[in-house]
Amino acid sequence: MIILDGKKTSNDIKSEIAEEVKKITESGNRPPHLAAVIVGNDGASLTYVGSKVKACEKVGYESTLIKLPDETTEDELLNQVEELNKNDSIDGYIVQLPLPSHIDTQTILMAVDPDKDVDGFHPTNFGKMSLNLPTFISATPSGIIELLKRYKVQTEGKNTVVLGRSDIVGKPISILMGLKTNPGNSTVTLAHSRTSNIKNLTLEADIIISALGIPNFLKEDMLKKGVVVVDVGITRVPDNSEKGYKIVGDVDYENVSKKCSYITPVPGGVGPMTIAMLLKNNLKAFKNKHSSCF
Ligand code: NAP
Repeated sequence: MIILDGKKTSNDIKSEIAEEVKKITESGNRPPHLAAVIVGNDGASLTYVGSKVKACEKVGYESTLIKLPDETTEDELLNQVEELNKNDSIDGYIVQLPLPSHIDTQTILMAVDPDKDVDGFHPTNFGKMSLNLPTFISATPSGIIELLKRYKVQTEGKNTVVLGRSDIVGKPISILMGLKTNPGNSTVTLAHSRTSNIKNLTLEADIIISALGIPNFLKEDMLKKGVVVVDVGITRVPDNSEKGYKIVGDVDYENVSKKCSYITPVPGGVGPMTIAMLLKNNLKAFKNKHSSCF
């Protein structure tokens, strides 16, 4: 069994990006600049956004964190988005999700300039991804693809089962795995809460990508030997540690890993890859803007 080490791979990617940023600044350009907007005080969201800002510093990017209060209106957030669209010194930005319930997420995401949409959530970018055109692919699915690519996991002709159909993970990774690409060229099944026979599907799967958010959902009796398992789930489960919780995935790792050819751990699998791919998307946004220099 081989561990798909997202922590190491993401550090490799960050070193590659840092090297490129060094070249950019040495040639007299400003460094790439990533901004993040967060509305409210959700603990997990603040942690995620904090890690993204820290990662920017690590690779030599400029970063801007815009913290808005919970009571920010949809119009106020739209104004902020418009300002970021116009700000020429910012190459890409993200609006951290989830947003408070009084703000319509789609309205906000639709207002983001697709050229600065480094999260790849805008319909223009999602559509381009589906057609295998150059675009920003959202960070978690592209992190999974990058991990499979760097570990040379064979996907062509394999049966891939994706668990979960969210717009940010399940749906896009199911599309990417079915594209005429490598990694890709898989025969994909997308399962969700209305799927009646999940165990029958997973027992036939060569590759399982789980994005449910249900701890220990995937158990060893649901898999065949030699399966590749990618665990996207991140759930905070209360424990007696100083933090008061631990992070667990969707997979019963201890037992499932014994049957796998490859598996991602949680933490240290898909999570760190997500941040690395966000940084990579921002480098792409910078290069697109300064295309005459590259
Ligand atoms: P989500 O929006 O929370 O949706 C969960 C999906 O699971 C839905 O499609 C739902 O089906 C399906 N589902 C729920 N219960 C099910 C069941 N019993 N059987 C089969 N399917 C079921 O998904 P998400 O935002 O992609 O998040 C999923 C997990 O990934 C969470 O733990 C999240 O924290 C984690 N995550 C991790 C990263 C990372 O960087 N590693 C990034 C994003 C998300 P319906 O559509 O029918 O409701």
